[in-house]
Formats: sequence, structure tokens, C-alpha cells
Amino acid sequence: MADRVFTDEAVSGFHGDNIRSGALGEFIHEVETGVIERGSYLILENLDRLTRIDPWDAVALLRGILQLGISVVTLKPEMIFDPEKRDSMQLMQAVMFLDNAHKESLRKSGLGKDEWAKRFERARSPTMHHIGRRVSNWLTLGDDGRYHLNKRAATVERIFELCLEGLGSTAISQTLNAEGLETFNKGDRWGTTAVLSILQNRAAIGELALKDGGEPIPNYFPAVVDVATFEAAHARIAARKTGSIPKQSAAFNVWGKLVFCGACGSAMHIIQRTKFKYLMCANKRYGQCDGARNVRLDESEDVFMCMLRELDALHFAMPDPERLSRELSAVEGRLLLERDQLATLAKRVAQNPESDTAMDLMLQAESKSKATRHEVERLKAELTGSSDKLSLAEVRAKVDMKDKNMRRRANAFLHRLGVKVHIADGYLVTQGDEARAIFAVSKNRIGCLGLEGDPGDIPDLVAANAIAKSVKTLLDKPGGGFVYRGDVTTPNGRGTRRPKGAISGS
Ligand SMILES: [Zn+2]
Repeated sequence: MADRVFTDEAVSGFHGDNIRSGALGEFIHEVETGVIERGSYLILENLDRLTRIDPWDAVALLRGILQLGISVVTLKPEMIFDPEKRDSMQLMQAVMFLDNAHKESLRKSGLGKDEWAKRFERARSPTMHHIGRRVSNWLTLGDDGRYHLNKRAATVERIFELCLEGLGSTAISQTLNAEGLETFNKGDRWGTTAVLSILQNRAAIGELALKDGGEPIPNYFPAVVDVATFEAAHARIAARKTGSIPKQSAAFNVWGKLVFCGACGSAMHIIQRTKFKYLMCANKRYGQCDGARNVRLDESEDVFMCMLRELDALHFAMPDPERLSRELSAVEGRLLLERDQLATLAKRVAQNPESDTAMDLMLQAESKSKATRHEVERLKAELTGSSDKLSLAEVRAKVDMKDKNMRRRANAFLHRLGVKVHIADGYLVTQGDEARAIFAVSKNRIGCLGLEGDPGDIPDLVAANAIAKSVKTLLDKPGGGFVYRGDVTTPNGRGTRRPKGAISGS
């Protein structure tokens, strides 16, 4: 029996919220991951605590828990659901009970459209009656039925202040992290999305926007900033937006999802500085990594070219058709299962056209099965070779880095090979769990050292930097490395495996 007690008092079961976010979700997760052993008991004070979503969904949830080998005990009504016994009478009783609970819950929570309309009307009346606790994070509903600013309001104020100082959302989140200000959700650091959504939230000036599309109510909440501040911030955001669109729609990023920070392992993103573009560690952007330098994008793309041309010499493993077809059958199997589930859910929606939960579940299942179908198509195309994939022959011949389509294909090609690049002082190239090479750049020359090691034997940051340094030293000698002038020359003597410690192209 699990020695942790799971309670779910705080979360209303009505929308099925407690499946995802509450103690119940945690419980299910821990059973699935083996933290809680099969054969444990889940004790519920009241069966309707299980969830007050649609009774059919609730029964499915109950069955799901039983299938995980967990016995469910409810005190009201007194019932023991044993995963070994498939007691259909008991299940019917549970359905009846849950059905009543659901109707009762509907009645009590008054979530019907009429009830909302009443609430909106009360909010619009001169008394400005509250609309519940679910409002912006920096507001708390007091016992007096009024909203009050809580300690987060200071952070909101700070965000507006930084915006008016001319900082963009990235720089603002960086500053908030550096100042150690807590986020409003469970996240451990501020990001641009949260910052922008606060800057755009009119509740900051005290306005309540009602979801019925009617006129917003001014001075409904206590304001954090005045209207002039809010509008000035908006002007700043708008100015930045128009300035940034062309930059983002530039060429396809050849490094997309291939390149990582050598210091912390986080992804690296392209940033625009006054003169050049750089690859920058995402954590550094948020002020959380100081071990990484920014790398000029054009330099890195020349290394990318070099890497493509050296694939042969560096003994990269090429795609394996057998592995592909195994993968394909697995994904096809998954697709069949998902389609089954989808059909079941579609039926449920037809039976309960009113149920948002059923609709949500169906839409989720639909998008999941769509993604799987794409995956099947991708694997099929790859197997037959009919896709627009880049062939090794093409890579050897020429990759035109100015051609957007070619850039996309080159990126996809490396993804298929399972290549990853970690950038610190040099570029550590790995394939799967094997190290392949370290590239380094010095004074417009690119050098490369082929690495031979056992699987899993990947140099750590210190070792990789030491190797990069030795590559650079050799590059600085006359005739070392490949010449790099924005265009990479073909290295000499390629196609041969170089022993550890030698520089390619020297
Ligand atoms: Zn980093």
C-alpha cells in the first residue's frame, strides 16, 4: 500500500481539471511510472471526487485506474473496486451514482450559459459584483468580495517600467530572471510569452473584458499602471513588432534543432545584433548560462558546409533501411490504435453533443492521429526514397547554401542521421551516442579533428574545449586547416580516416 495519502480537496472535479493537474493526476502518473506499486489502494471520500466530468468519461477513468492494478475504495457510497474482479453490477451502480453527481454538480456550479450571463450582468451593475477567483494572477478576491492587488503586482509594475525603458520582451524576461523575481505559474524562469501577455492585459489598468463580447468595464479591478503608461508600452511593442517581422522570415535555419550549447546543453537560437547574426544559447538569453559564447551565424554555416562535406571522411553511419521499416510498422500499429480510439470518442461526442470534455478529448485524439499519419508518410517516403531528401551523392557534389529549399533538405538530412552539434570553443559533432569530430575556427580557417571512440565516450566540455584549442593552434600554422572566406574550399586528402590527433585538410 502506498504510504502517501492523496487528497483532492482543492481542485473541483467538474471540468476534469483534477485528472490533469490535481493530486489524482499525480497519483496516476506515479502509478504509471512505477513510483506507486500495483496493488495499492486509492481511497476516495466520495466517488464523485474521482471526477465530476461526464459519467461515461468518469467510468473510463475508473476503469483506467483499475487496469493499472489499483483498487479503488470509496466511502460514499461504500464500495470497493477490485481490479481482479470485473463486477458489472457494481460498475452500473457507479455509473448511476456518477450520473446523479454530475447532474447535481451541473445544477450547483450553474455553469450554464444563463448563469454566466447573470454573473456578467451583476458585474456590470453599479455594485460591480465579483466574477469569481479566476482573474489575473496579481489580483486576489478578498473576503469582502472585492479584488485586491497582491505581491505580484510589483512584478507587473516592473515589467511595464522595463518596457518603457526601451527593453524588448526578451531583455525584460532576462532582467526579471536576473532580479530573481518569481514567475506567476510553476515555471522557474520568465519567458517572452508571459511578459507579452502581461503587457497586453488590460486588467493591468483595471479593465474587465467580458467574454460575451460586450463593452469592457473600466475601473473594475484596482489598476497596477495608469492608462498613459499602458498605451506608451503598447506603442513600444507595436514599433518593435513591425521592425522584427522581416528578420524572422529570412532563410531557413540550417541548424534548426541540430545545435546545442556546449556548456549547458540548451538549444541555441539565432539572434540579430547590429551588424551580424549570432547563435546564442537559449539559457544565456534568459540570463541562466554564462559558459557559452555567441557564435557568428555565417561562421557557423561555413562549419556546417564543412561538416556535410566531411561526412564520408568522418565515417558517419548512413540511414539503415531495416531500422526504417521496423520503425514504420511500429508507427503504423500506433496509427491503427489511435484511429480506434478516435472512432470511440467520436461516438461519444455524438451521444453527448453537450459535453465539452468529450469534444476536447476527440479533438486531442484527432490531432494526435494526424501527427502519426504524417510520421507514417514521412517514413514511407524515406523508405522508398521518393521523398525530397538529400542524397549523399548530392551532399558530396554541392550544397547551395543560398537555396532555401536546399538548406531545409540539408537540415533534414542531418536530422535523419541523428547528428547533433554542441558548440563551446569548438563544434563537437556527435551521431547517436558516438562522438564524430570537433570543428574549430581560427582566423578565417576551419579545422576538423576526427574522433574515434567507443559509444557513449563523448568528450565533456573541458575535453572538447581542449581539443578545439589544439585544432586552433594547428590552424594558425601555415597551411593548416581549410581556407575559410565565406566560402569553404574542399579539403585536401579527404576520404581517409585520420588518426586521433591529426588535423584534417592540413
Ligand atoms: Zn548554455
